Amino acid sequence: MEFRACYLVLLFSLFSLVACSPDDNSAGTTAKTPLSTEQSTAPDWFVAGAEDEKGDEPVYKSPNDDRQYRYVVLRNGLSALLISDPDTDKAAASLSVNVGSFDNPPEREGLAHFLEHMLFLGTDKYPEPGEYQAFISEHGGMHNAYTSLEETNYFFDVDAPHLMATLDRFSRFFVAPLFNPEYVDRERHAVESEYRLKLKDDSRREWDVLRELANPEHPFSQFSVGNLTTLDDRKDRPVRDDLLDFYQKYYSANQMNLVVLGTENLDQLQAAVEQRFAKVPNRKLVLPEQNIPLFAKPLPFKVAITPVKELRQLSISFPLPTVAATWPTKPVDYLAHLIGHEGEGSLLAELKRLGLAESLSAGLVYDSRAGALFSTTISLTHAGVAESDAITRAFFNWLELVKTRGLEEWRYAELANLSRIAFRFADKHAPINYVSQISSMLHTFPPSEALRGPYFYQGYNAQEIRDIADRLRPDNALVTVVARPVEDPAAESSQESAAPQTLSTYYQAPYRVEALQVADLTGGDDEPGLLQLSLHLPEPNAYIPEHLALNKPDTVQDKPALIKAGGDQGLSIWHYPDTVFQTPRALFEARIAIADLQDRRRETLLDLYRAMVQDQLSSQTYPAAQAGLGFDIGRWDNGLSLSVKGYSEKQPLLLAEITAVMAQPEWDEARFARVKSTLLRLWRNTAKDWPISQVFAAVSPLLRDSWLPLEKADTLDSLTMADLKAFVADLYGNSHARYYAGGNLDRATASDMALTVSDKLGLRAAGEDAIAINYEVKNLAATEPVPQFDIYVDHADNVAVLFLQGAEDTLQERALFALIEKVAEAPFYSDLRTEKQLGYVVGSSISPMHRVPGLMFYVQSPTMESTGLRSEIDGFLTAFDEKVAALGEEDLQRLKQAVLASIEEKPKNIMELAGRHLESLYLGYDDFDFRSRLAESIRNTTLADLQGAYQRVVLKQREGIWLLSSRDTEDMSLDRTKRDTLVEGVFTYPQ
Ligand SMILES: [Zn+2]
Repeated sequence: MEFRACYLVLLFSLFSLVACSPDDNSAGTTAKTPLSTEQSTAPDWFVAGAEDEKGDEPVYKSPNDDRQYRYVVLRNGLSALLISDPDTDKAAASLSVNVGSFDNPPEREGLAHFLEHMLFLGTDKYPEPGEYQAFISEHGGMHNAYTSLEETNYFFDVDAPHLMATLDRFSRFFVAPLFNPEYVDRERHAVESEYRLKLKDDSRREWDVLRELANPEHPFSQFSVGNLTTLDDRKDRPVRDDLLDFYQKYYSANQMNLVVLGTENLDQLQAAVEQRFAKVPNRKLVLPEQNIPLFAKPLPFKVAITPVKELRQLSISFPLPTVAATWPTKPVDYLAHLIGHEGEGSLLAELKRLGLAESLSAGLVYDSRAGALFSTTISLTHAGVAESDAITRAFFNWLELVKTRGLEEWRYAELANLSRIAFRFADKHAPINYVSQISSMLHTFPPSEALRGPYFYQGYNAQEIRDIADRLRPDNALVTVVARPVEDPAAESSQESAAPQTLSTYYQAPYRVEALQVADLTGGDDEPGLLQLSLHLPEPNAYIPEHLALNKPDTVQDKPALIKAGGDQGLSIWHYPDTVFQTPRALFEARIAIADLQDRRRETLLDLYRAMVQDQLSSQTYPAAQAGLGFDIGRWDNGLSLSVKGYSEKQPLLLAEITAVMAQPEWDEARFARVKSTLLRLWRNTAKDWPISQVFAAVSPLLRDSWLPLEKADTLDSLTMADLKAFVADLYGNSHARYYAGGNLDRATASDMALTVSDKLGLRAAGEDAIAINYEVKNLAATEPVPQFDIYVDHADNVAVLFLQGAEDTLQERALFALIEKVAEAPFYSDLRTEKQLGYVVGSSISPMHRVPGLMFYVQSPTMESTGLRSEIDGFLTAFDEKVAALGEEDLQRLKQAVLASIEEKPKNIMELAGRHLESLYLGYDDFDFRSRLAESIRNTTLADLQGAYQRVVLKQREGIWLLSSRDTEDMSLDRTKRDTLVEGVFTYPQ
């Protein structure tokens, strides 16, 4: 789905997760009791409106949800859902307008998107373009917007006490934007940069080809992003006039949904919203459904597109009429569930068995007033590309099986049951995401179903499912193959003769269209060249939770306690039985330290092993994932982390399956070849990532002994299955692990799970000293000028990144880095992006590595050379010193508040709380007080501290590196010899 976020979200998170070192301690015992009668007979939803008679319609909500809701329609026709949550740290709001790229005037492609950009840049009451951004940033929040096909969604969050002031600014977008002519002119360049940034993005390129093939009468045929040409000033017609016309036509209160979440009560929220949003003009806009065929050319036909990355994808797509009205019964979801199934006997599992496919997904690409598109996409192996015609036929056979034997009520009931459980135990998530999702969904679901609608399955309706299934026919199919041309000369020449290649207009993607006959897509069982697949539909899902019992611990713990499994000398487990969130979910993690990983070959082998195991487990664990029970075999600096999360009841069962495969992988040559080639492809494709991502990726390998994906790809190329077997044979004998179990897991279950991991893998029983998990970070020396590394990037855009490292790995230094970043954040963006328009990706971020503080400033530009960008960043930081010197006590308090708000934000669900526990453990705070101690350091920082630190860190004793993109050298590897000359030691933990 086309989804366009307009500001780059932080690329490096403030906190990252890894491991711990335990002290001896013991926990209280726990007893498992079933849900109390009251809970077990609790209804699956409540009517929120019942407790609040004042709304215009009741709103169904989960019994797990303690927030209050009220839906009202303002006198101008604007729909508003108010959410009162007295416990929330962050308030948030979103306004969704039912208008998007499909509504662009034919002569002004990209206008809806450009308008989205322009609304941020000044209103009557708040004319300064950077004011909104600065206000939100200083009050601990963030904001964003996206333009999709028929929707433009604006949203923000902010520290809860500042909701009203932010709403005041936000509301003016929809009442009195300025469209300041000077910024209209400048901001076109931001759209141009955004367009150029994604010129090599293969999904954009595929979209561009489909756009070109679409019926010219259909809005899909339009270029949605826009650029300097589509948004230029024309004779007698400046783009600003079109912008105003568009705004006045489409930004109508009756097509807007507002969702506001805050700590205020519902009456206060309603008053605030009425006061500010009742002034939004109501233009009584009517948006009719249009019945226009997506393609003018008759189906079926095939399009072959050449990608930039090494992609190999086969998609089979079917235009449908709009399906929004089927939301209560969800026939499309039902079909997508079966077609996209990945368990044993599924199309994907069988194609994998033959070494032809890597992954598969099915579902709606979009739904709109002008129809919908349903698509199944299969990632192919090299062998799969050559067999793509046979795979297409196999897909239609699978579809036939789904249609003839898959329409069964018990399957629907299973899906409905899982969805019901998910709503019954719905977790709270970040308010900013919550409000933006709901405001968008209110265009589809009736107000009373704004929360429950996506989970609601009204009942099995075979006819409705069949009506959709009937449109998934060969004569209604578009087949898309995205792959590099086959190298076989015979195949190549036959392709050449089939049709000439064309370049798509906006993204220059090479493609060719071929006619198809219905007979090309189907074939009887006796037909030669058909794949030998043994397809069958899924069995009943054994992982669906049955009891959903909540543990009732005897004692209430406020943090994890260390318990032992298998006697005093046994395994160390940090155990946290949850009594706060009361959901039947848990997180179990085994963090396994593996010796001698600081070696490129061993690190590559470990990645390969992980991919082999995950591949083997994928079809057998697919039903678990469907039932809300997931697992991950992840990497951390010194080893593997095995985690199981979701409904706790069947976690031990899943863990046993996973560890059995980890201990004894199936040594299958075909799987090895397929997994290796997938990994090679993924790693090599990183050379086509966004330039900024490629440059960011070099930071970590320069500060730790780790490797770039491209470097690992070179090593992987020559590895054989025998190499991997030898590596795995002594993988665990010398390894040890530390365990964490948080949530709805009692002590005995947590112990059993730890023992399962240890026994099945044969881990070494470690003494206390051996449990210590080490890490090292290179300590950069202060050098002027700051040394520069050139990173080869094959892209027309240029990048400069300044990374600055803390002089020490203390909390005081970390606090200073957070405050420096916060003070510079909005001015940096406003100067280099909004004013100077250097590029679309402009920003700063906190980027610590373990305990060591780090800070980055970055720009990616389509117009300026990387050395020029370096000067711009330097110039800004030097000039900004004056602003830092002029800061007052009040400014400092505001900055501190903004930083503290994110550090002290309360976890909203058990997974977030468990994440906090692991964060403390990883950083070596076994009292689970990392955040509270960091907050204390921030509170203790004085103005003089901050001003002094700015001078030292940013200007005078810089311990850092410049990373500049370059097209001069094609050497992809990093210059570690040069790096070694800049290092004055290492930060090590534990000291
Ligand atoms: Zn944009």
